Amino acid sequence: MGEMAMDRRELRNCFGRFATGVTVVTCLHEQGSHGFTANSFTSVSLDPPLVLVSVDRKTRALPYLKGNRFTVNILRDDQQQTAMHFAGKSQHPAPFEWDGTRIAGSLAYIDCDPWAEYDGGDHVLIVGKVTRFEYEDGAPLAFYGGKFSKVASPE
Ligand SMILES: Cc1cc2nc3c(=O)[nH]c(=O)nc-3n(C[C@H](O)[C@H](O)[C@H](O)COP(=O)(O)OP(=O)(O)OC[C@H]3O[C@@H](n4cnc5c(N)ncnc54)[C@H](O)[C@@H]3O)c2cc1C
Repeated sequence: MGEMAMDRRELRNCFGRFATGVTVVTCLHEQGSHGFTANSFTSVSLDPPLVLVSVDRKTRALPYLKGNRFTVNILRDDQQQTAMHFAGKSQHPAPFEWDGTRIAGSLAYIDCDPWAEYDGGDHVLIVGKVTRFEYEDGAPLAFYGGKFSKVASPE
């Protein structure tokens, strides 16, 4: 299919056939903390330990993340309201608690130093070097076909 003929909504639907987990990427900036929901998280490298998040150029998160430390909070299946909150649909009262820059109760935490940024079209690919991580057993929140979903936790 030629580029001009590509239907954006159909392309989105096609990309949505890739099932993912859901994260909230958080960081500290001059006015405080900031978080946003992202499912573009990818593990990249073990040596050095690197991860990737693709950030829409239009988000407020992008200038906060550039050259900054950040934390990837991998959400549990009971944190859907938190995912909605950090996707711009603010929930009152807030359905989460901070633990530093971490979202308390998440399935895993990955703290990163800035490593590199790459052009990703209408997104910027932010690569972080892992400085600390923690994880627990449990079931992850999943995202598939534009909807939140669940997967069985590995036993
Ligand atoms: C499942 C899913 C996956 C997504 N994946 C991606 C992705 O990979 N890349 C991408 O670029 N976009 C992704 N998005 C969209 C992205 O989450 C929104 O565009 C995002 O809300 C934009 O954030 P912002 O920084 O522009 O907005 P903001 O409005 O600044 O922040 C987003 C929300 O977080 C809340 N918030 C932020 N900081 C705090 C704080 N300190 N305390 C309390 N609340 C706070 C705000 O109230 C707001 O509702 C995804 C959305 C969903 C639902």
